[in-house]
Amino acid sequence: MFDKILIANRGEIALRVLRACKELGIATVAVHSTADSDAMHVRLADESVCIGPPPARDSYLNIPSLLAACEITGADAVHPGYGFLSENARFADILAEHDIGFIGPKADHIRLMGDKIEAKRTAKKLGIPVVPGSDGGVTDEAEARRLASAIGYPVLIKAAAGGGGRGMKVARSEAELMNAVQTAKSEAKAAFGDDAVYLEKFLEKPRHIEIQVLGDGRGDAICLGERDCSLQRRHQKVWEEGPSPALNEGQRAQVLDTVRRAMCELQYLGAGTVEFLYENNAFYFIEMNTRIQVEHPVTEMITGIDLIAEQIRVAAGQPLSLNKDKIRFRGHAIEVRINAEDPDTFLPSPGTIKQFHAPGGLGVRFDSAIYAGYSIPPFYDSMIGKLIVHGRTREEAIRRLRRAIVETVVDGVKTTLPLHYWITEQPDFVEGSYNIHWLEKKLADR
Ligand code: ADP
Repeated sequence: MFDKILIANRGEIALRVLRACKELGIATVAVHSTADSDAMHVRLADESVCIGPPPARDSYLNIPSLLAACEITGADAVHPGYGFLSENARFADILAEHDIGFIGPKADHIRLMGDKIEAKRTAKKLGIPVVPGSDGGVTDEAEARRLASAIGYPVLIKAAAGGGGRGMKVARSEAELMNAVQTAKSEAKAAFGDDAVYLEKFLEKPRHIEIQVLGDGRGDAICLGERDCSLQRRHQKVWEEGPSPALNEGQRAQVLDTVRRAMCELQYLGAGTVEFLYENNAFYFIEMNTRIQVEHPVTEMITGIDLIAEQIRVAAGQPLSLNKDKIRFRGHAIEVRINAEDPDTFLPSPGTIKQFHAPGGLGVRFDSAIYAGYSIPPFYDSMIGKLIVHGRTREEAIRRLRRAIVETVVDGVKTTLPLHYWITEQPDFVEGSYNIHWLEKKLADR
């Protein structure tokens, strides 16, 4: 097992990793930019190192600084959290060259799944159903036209290096195609430095359902159920829950089994998420994320398994702490993302938190690094915390969420909590009938 883990992240996920390390008896090193000197993860870690100025490229993405921090503190492993360097294969390789453990998948798997064209090819080979689309990248206009008419309009143009919903454009007819391809290419170039794009059938009313996996890297893997992340805005998740209100036992068992077998064959190591769109009773793979995700607490609440502790164990070469027959699912969990944003306009609302009161009680979990007097720096993501609730049924979880939102006080900045409360008041949502376009349509009609 590792003796000392450096957490190459900030905010709530840095705190989340720190908590798992403490429970495992592992010493912790926090890193921070000059903008985060007062951050909670710095206060709670055993040691901390300043790794650079506020812009992420100079601090949280600065590999030489992180290596120096490992060397100074004697950390023998790095947990990258999510975002930042968590899906950077080169970082994983460099750590290995320095004999430092990377708490994440094998670098080859990060590389493979980071290219969404290769990821789809691999999924197909492993027997996972994929969204109909082009087999490879799209290079010229004639080919784009030919492929799009073979797939059938509407089509979605997606960036091979995509992430965060960027570089995605819909074309509903041939007339729209060229413009959409050009826009997607230039967005992809600007965001990822790579303008490769591919085509996919645009599904009109799908749900986003993803499967949590854990592998030991030697051919054993388990699936810890699904999360329904269909509540989205601009292709970004807003609310996540599990189990999905759309699936029955048979459908669930089948997709979990397909994914588990694929992960065993791949000899996948660590935590990962296989993402699907689900429409008309069929699953279509869209991508795999090779890291812990923001919404992992949903799975932890319904399985009782500490996913970060499992990541650490398997990265240290230990076997998974349970096998597929020992997993039990209990009740329903919901996570809502609390962003420091205006709940009506979604404009960022950085500033100082004057008053803060976290909700509590049975089945309530609040993952956040904020405190009264904390100034939210303008340099990073606007997510300041996550409220997670668990209930015996979905109905009970929704009622618990409503009362927990009312208890929460975050004064001084605007947050998206009122948006979440409003969502719980929408009858069609409460019934569970929603798809990936539901929220944007509702917001437009409001
Ligand atoms: P990213 O890596 O940018 O998050 P994903 O491939 O995971 O991109 O897709 C993000 C979201 O975009 C999905 O959850 C879904 O809402 C939408 N999306 C992706 N592919 C399709 C598709 N073929 N049809 C309709 N919507 C899609």
